[in-house]
Amino acid sequence: MIRQAVIMAGGLGSRLKGRTDTMPKGFIELGGEAIVRSSIRKLISAGIEEIIIGTGHCSEWYEKLADEMHILTCVRNNEYADTGSMGTLLRCAENVTGDFLLLESDLIYDSVGLFALINEQRSNVILASGATASGDEVYLEADSDANLVRHSKNRNDLSGIYGELVGISKLTKKTLDAMVAHCNAHLGDEPRMEYETAMSAVSAAAEPGDKIGILKLDDYAWREIDDETHLAMAAEKVFPEIVCREASRAVRREVLLNPGPATTTDSVKYSQVCADICPREHEFGDVMEWISHELSLMAGKPDAVETVLFGGSGTAADEVMVSSCIPDGSKTLIIDNGAYGTRLSKIASVYKLDTEVWKSSGYLPLDVPALKEKIAGGGFTHLVMVYHETTTGLLNPVPELCRFAREHGVTTIVDAVSSFAAIDIDMDRDGIDFMASTSNKNIQGMAGIGFVFCRKEALEKTASYPMRNFYLNLWDQYQYFKKTHQTRFTPPVQSMYSLRQAIIETKVETIAGRYARYSACWDVLVKAVDELGLTMLVPREAQSKLITAIIEPDTPAYSFDTLHDFARAHAFTIYPGKLSDANTFRIANIGDIRPEEMKAFTVLMKEYFRGIGL
Ligand SMILES: *Cc1c(COP(=O)(O)O)cnc(C)c1O
Repeated sequence: MIRQAVIMAGGLGSRLKGRTDTMPKGFIELGGEAIVRSSIRKLISAGIEEIIIGTGHCSEWYEKLADEMHILTCVRNNEYADTGSMGTLLRCAENVTGDFLLLESDLIYDSVGLFALINEQRSNVILASGATASGDEVYLEADSDANLVRHSKNRNDLSGIYGELVGISKLTKKTLDAMVAHCNAHLGDEPRMEYETAMSAVSAAAEPGDKIGILKLDDYAWREIDDETHLAMAAEKVFPEIVCREASRAVRREVLLNPGPATTTDSVKYSQVCADICPREHEFGDVMEWISHELSLMAGKPDAVETVLFGGSGTAADEVMVSSCIPDGSKTLIIDNGAYGTRLSKIASVYKLDTEVWKSSGYLPLDVPALKEKIAGGGFTHLVMVYHETTTGLLNPVPELCRFAREHGVTTIVDAVSSFAAIDIDMDRDGIDFMASTSNKNIQGMAGIGFVFCRKEALEKTASYPMRNFYLNLWDQYQYFKKTHQTRFTPPVQSMYSLRQAIIETKVETIAGRYARYSACWDVLVKAVDELGLTMLVPREAQSKLITAIIEPDTPAYSFDTLHDFARAHAFTIYPGKLSDANTFRIANIGDIRPEEMKAFTVLMKEYFRGIGL
């Protein structure tokens, strides 16, 4: 698995004077976006977890970018004016922990090149193209096994030309270390060494298994932007070509306005297309360990939370909690103010737990003082509740009630399936002991993985609890993974890769940023609802802003199915209501959707309702 990328961005860009006097080359824009931003976006989409940028000239531009995107780490080459790209790479080497991608900062390229490199069998391989006639080519000579022998800007120096260097490579840490050693050995005679020189030298001297291969994509669309001619050529020809090729691989867009599975990015969809692997391999265990570690960090402070993964939907995670976290002899209070609260109490009844159900309106806020009195005086050991009641969009006051419950020694179990990764949660701060969520809601991955977040001490206590079922047992699943680095049963392998990608993208957006985007979509929706004179079921102040239940107009002309089919024909999917005592339809605004798309949906919604005389 390739987790890191290094972008060498220390250079002065002196052949683009005027543009790069006070700005690094990577910030030159094409199509309204800095070329390095576009490169970073492609690396993130290709599943890179950390991007190390070797900076020098005008490094503050990159430092500012790193403040905005926590996936970036800047390493400054203070001697950038007197060293070459190898001097910059040398300083980044310490941060590299394994196989990585190495890129130049002044490239525009088709993202397919990253896919091809990542999927290459060889672990050291550089990308090459056919003839570009760019006027600044670095030619590559290869041996009979397509390994790099030497490179030159002068074709006459080489005994044959295999391809042109693109400036994107996949290398092992071992190769990087050898390049660094080569550079250090030649500091005196070649202080301005370029990284290709170190690569050629290392490849030539390497044992057969460590040589650097060349992957040649004949018709590859890319350009290095070193001077005004390159820039003009890129703007006129290469950039539009790249945009067109990438657009041809876009997946048909369907905007899901149902409350999960949510709309995913193309990169999340494509992340499932990867080499087959037996999930008992250590490498796959690493993927799952990373996933549960990163999820834990989203739910609480470092080391405070353990996240246990199960193959199954959100309800599986709910059933894990209810069946594994409440020992015999307990007394459990279950709050039911919607379909998901009802579901939790049904699960508890299947396991014949001693419960009392607190029934409350599906659209009015909970009576907090009365509930607190109940919790304090009812002799309860456990409290079970839903954070965001997806039935209606009602957001329950979990932090207030769970903190209170914990102060009274009550263990708290929360269904956060449709709130996690949108609402800011810290299990310690909010008094939550166990919490369930799933891969296909606000985290924006594919369906198939349920997860249970556990406060560490609370989890340890469950070790001695009775095993009421087999597949969904929390402690067994947890300790088996700890011991073996494997799940007990076959995990949904491809969904796991897409969850990994979804986590990377969530970290880039941040949970606060995600909620701000969701809220912006909600604002657009609510404006249209008001304009149409429709009524929302839940008072605004009590709404999650993640899903909205809208009361159906009282006219025989209205039909949910007609509205649904009309929206669906325009690639929007909406959802019927789920409440017995009110006729509603529901519009969720979670997933990879943008306010402009919600705007387009509201145009359709207005067209439909005006058509039936509203
Ligand atoms: C979606 C959801 C679930 C789980 O539903 P699945 O279909 O099992 O994924 C559970 N609780 C809430 C609050 C939900 O929104």
